[in-house]
Amino acid sequence: MTARVLVVDDVVANVRLLEAKLAREYFDVLTAMDGPEALAAVEREVPDIILLDVMMPGMDGFEVCRRIKADPRFMHIPVVMVTALSDSADRVQGLEAGADDFLTKPVNDIALFARVRSLVRLKMMMDELRLRQQTANSLGLSESVEPDIDISSGHVLLVEDRDVYAKSVSDTLDGEHNLTIAKSDEEAVAVARGGQFELIIVSLALQGADALRLCSQLRSMDETRQVPLLVLVDDTPDEMARMVKGLDLGVNDYLIRPIDRNELLARARSQIRRKRYEDQLRSNYELSMTMAVTDTVTGLYNRRYMELHLQRLVERSSQGGHPVCLQILDIDHFKTVNDTHGHAVGDEVLREFGERIARGTRGIDMASRYGGEEFVIVMPDTVLDDAVAAAERLREAVASTPFKVSGDAGTLTVTVSIGVAETSAGIADHDALIRAADEALYMAKNNGRNRVVTASSGDAPLAAGQGM
Ligand code: GH3
Ligand code: MG
Ligand code: MG
Repeated sequence: MTARVLVVDDVVANVRLLEAKLAREYFDVLTAMDGPEALAAVEREVPDIILLDVMMPGMDGFEVCRRIKADPRFMHIPVVMVTALSDSADRVQGLEAGADDFLTKPVNDIALFARVRSLVRLKMMMDELRLRQQTANSLGLSESVEPDIDISSGHVLLVEDRDVYAKSVSDTLDGEHNLTIAKSDEEAVAVARGGQFELIIVSLALQGADALRLCSQLRSMDETRQVPLLVLVDDTPDEMARMVKGLDLGVNDYLIRPIDRNELLARARSQIRRKRYEDQLRSNYELSMTMAVTDTVTGLYNRRYMELHLQRLVERSSQGGHPVCLQILDIDHFKTVNDTHGHAVGDEVLREFGERIARGTRGIDMASRYGGEEFVIVMPDTVLDDAVAAAERLREAVASTPFKVSGDAGTLTVTVSIGVAETSAGIADHDALIRAADEALYMAKNNGRNRVVTASSGDAPLAAGQGM
């Protein structure tokens, strides 16, 4: 994994030390010696992660962190505060300033690489989600992400089989979050399967089970794959080594016993925030992608998406590619359906119409609702004669079988007029192709409706009544 790390410290020796350690592991290292310089570097270089000294003259690390986290362009960059060993107040203040994690000085290699790697991995996933979000945004139909996420009442699972320890955690978290306690690994897995947890805290010193095995199981289960894992670890070399293994297995964070109440609260908050942010990105993305490309009434592609797609196809075609054909379909006298039977029945007809043309369209063709009672079918790699034949089949599929609708009407006979056009020398872009098909449609309407007409030749070779 390669990533750009910004190291900020006012002491040259500290900067050089971290720089050397990180460079040895093939990270790209940028450096800054004070707050303003750090902010400028963030602006200029947009690093993947920032290691930020707390104590700096002028603007301290907390302030730098607050400013980064207040800027929508940079708030997603993980910030690790680098602080003096025993300073628990610093840690809490840092996390409250929005820092994602902290390292204690002197910086231990294992903790450094474990934290940097896990945060960079997380950021890369967030970047991917943000990018997809932007793609959806560029289609113009999605809401932007609201970065200010409420972080109260998290659903937290604690796995701890010693009552005293469980109680101290629950005393701390109760009131702010909804805590569930599991007293064995089996219970943890069962409860986690059923619950929508936003954070799972695992005591590494479980008496009755191997806590690391449990962590790896939680990482692989579908229901908990995305749930942050925080382990509680005793400050002994053996336990610390197991914790490092845990980080490799996908544990997101750890706390060292004896647990500082504020630190536990702050860490829980920061994990829950991250989880909610990710969830929101994911659901916004899915929702906006669906909204961005489909018409809600018919489930067909919408106009915006069709035009984007058509534009690319026509461009490719004009650069020596295959011809593209386009059909515009307009339901005949649709206004009368609305006027006679009401708008709801009109919608039923549109839905059924959409289904019939979807059924009658090849996989490679794109059926879309162009607006109102007009539909467009884009046919890549198709010559005019084949497009006309396809249009004629659709016309027939609509006219031949009356539409079932609710209410008194029972069934309605519906017909459609279709204009067809093909890319050719005279057609410079997708707008021109649509215009040509639209002119043909206009002729179809004038010539009596329920027929297929091509852009060039008036009535198409296979006009109404001739069948296939
Ligand atoms: P023509 O044969 O010339 O196409 O006549 P028409 O009545 O189909 O065409 P016109 O453009 O005059 O009317 C289209 C009607 O389609 C008017 C509008 O109220 C109706 N319409 C547009 N969108 C919807 C919709 O989403 N639902 C319903 N029920 N009606 C719609
Ligand atoms: Mg119309
Ligand atoms: Mg119409």
